[in-house]
Amino acid sequence: MQTFDIVIIGAGPAGAASAVTARKRGLSVALVDKAVFPRAKLCGGLVTGRCAAHLKEVFDLDLIPGLFETRKNFTFHLGADDLGRLDDVPPVHLTMRWDFDRLLYARAIKAGATDFTGRRVENLDLEHNTVTLEGGQVLRYGVLIGADGVQSFVAKALFGRAFDPEKIGFALEIEAPSEMPDEDTPLRIDFAAADWGYGWVFPKSRSTTVGLGGIQARNADMGAALAAYRAKLTLPEGAKVKGHFLPFGEAKTRPGRENVLLAGDAAGFVDPLTGEGIGYAIESGALAAEVGARAIREGRPILAAGYYRAATRPIRTSIAQARMLRPLMFSRRLQPFFARSFAASRGLKRAYMHLLSGDTSYPAILSRVLVRLPGKITRHLVTRGRAG
Ligand SMILES: Cc1cc2nc3c(=O)[nH]c(=O)nc-3n(C[C@H](O)[C@H](O)[C@H](O)COP(=O)(O)OP(=O)(O)OC[C@H]3O[C@@H](n4cnc5c(N)ncnc54)[C@H](O)[C@@H]3O)c2cc1C
Repeated sequence: MQTFDIVIIGAGPAGAASAVTARKRGLSVALVDKAVFPRAKLCGGLVTGRCAAHLKEVFDLDLIPGLFETRKNFTFHLGADDLGRLDDVPPVHLTMRWDFDRLLYARAIKAGATDFTGRRVENLDLEHNTVTLEGGQVLRYGVLIGADGVQSFVAKALFGRAFDPEKIGFALEIEAPSEMPDEDTPLRIDFAAADWGYGWVFPKSRSTTVGLGGIQARNADMGAALAAYRAKLTLPEGAKVKGHFLPFGEAKTRPGRENVLLAGDAAGFVDPLTGEGIGYAIESGALAAEVGARAIREGRPILAAGYYRAATRPIRTSIAQARMLRPLMFSRRLQPFFARSFAASRGLKRAYMHLLSGDTSYPAILSRVLVRLPGKITRHLVTRGRAG
């Protein structure tokens, strides 16, 4: 048996951020992943300004050319309606997760985390603080961080299931041929390409990522929705369709218990309007390591979950506020109102883009949007938001 201050399960953005942060605090770290890196991860690869700030802070990583492509133009659609184009918005960045995740993982190992990638977790013993890996090796932890994605083994061990099937999102993607985009090539967003969701076309130099996602329970046939979207975009047949769950606004109110913490998708930290999760994964992964280090330093690892719940409150508040706005963009009843306002208003489009790029927050947007809406709609949003 090997003993570590912190054992991290999952070496994606959340786990790598935990590992780097814990090493900066001088802790011993085991980084476990069932995959060997580089590994595939289904994702649009959109990196917002908010995410870029976390990359700099946690990994000291700049937006280096080759790994990131910058875009500043968008087009928006709803069904057959063209809602307009917006140029020179605050920039967003595109990356390929194959390379991006490999780099973050490499930073974690370089920082001194012990590498247990290529090893699936077979058992967790929460009472004795041990993790058993495939092959029988046992790791003992002071604090365990479950950064093992939306189908988290650690969340299942804590709560009996990784997510609520009624609330979970699901997304499909294909990689279509690249049309050699440049910085002026717009990214495309199609609201309502899926029910309670949207579609996207992100042209990159190696391929064009095309996808759609929405609440799974409201989309009985997501495959048919993607086929219709492909037809609308007049994309050639043939590209392989891949699917993945997306915790689309299902943040756990208690993202851990005692000395076991959940970070990133395992905690449900994904924006319910935009589907952005990489930034929250890095932020929450780093916070989990920070509070783990504090609890270990104080000699009371079981206090970690309480510290973590407090530290991640701003993330949950943002997600809750985005959920409040969600019916405005996604519900059939309010969507025509949204479409009319969005098409007519550069201000609303800009507000959406500032949100996406990370230089404004949901509290700021919410207060601006709610005061402009008819009282009936505001009350409807607040009630729906509370109900989830
Ligand atoms: C189709 C799609 C498009 C998306 N597009 C975007 C986007 O454009 N921008 C954005 O910001 N977000 C996007 N997201 C969300 C984003 O991909 C996630 O929020 C992000 O990857 C979360 O990072 P993570 O580290 O929590 O989990 P992951 O990246 O999923 O990493 C989890 C790791 O845990 C490992 N693991 C799982 N189970 C075990 C186990 N039992 N034992 C050992 N290891 C295990 C996995 O191998 C994996 O490496 C998208 C998601 C989907 C599905």
